[in-house]
Amino acid sequence: MDCIFCKIAAGEIPSNKVFEDERCLVFHDIAPAAPVHALVVPKRHSASILEADDETIGHLMRVARETAKTLGLSEGGFRIVVNTGVEGGQTVDHLHIHVIGGRSMTWPPG
Ligand code: 5GP
Ligand code: ZN
Repeated sequence: MDCIFCKIAAGEIPSNKVFEDERCLVFHDIAPAAPVHALVVPKRHSASILEADDETIGHLMRVARETAKTLGLSEGGFRIVVNTGVEGGQTVDHLHIHVIGGRSMTWPPG
């Protein structure tokens, strides 16, 4: 499958990695919308949150919270965002959770 996040998860395309376990990978967004902008991505392909199983969603959400803490966002606050589908602004069709924070946040755009 020609999926950019599957390729990143497989190590075929490099990423700026924050965390990895057997089920997911966390890496910095290539076009950050804030000083901290990480993506939590399951290693197993799901097109969106609609297709993912409950256990995966729970695991990814826990990792997203821990990522926010690890990246120093607990005090100032942060956003956890899952864009879904065309009208939800999803541009990469492999489930991912955005962890966005820090000063000068420019998300959401517009
Ligand atoms: P979406 O709009 O689908 O919720 O978000 C996709 C995100 O993936 C965007 O914020 C975009 O900058 C990021 N992205 C797209 N391609 C790459 C890539 O090759 N590497 C990394 N690190 N981020 C990517
Ligand atoms: Zn994929």
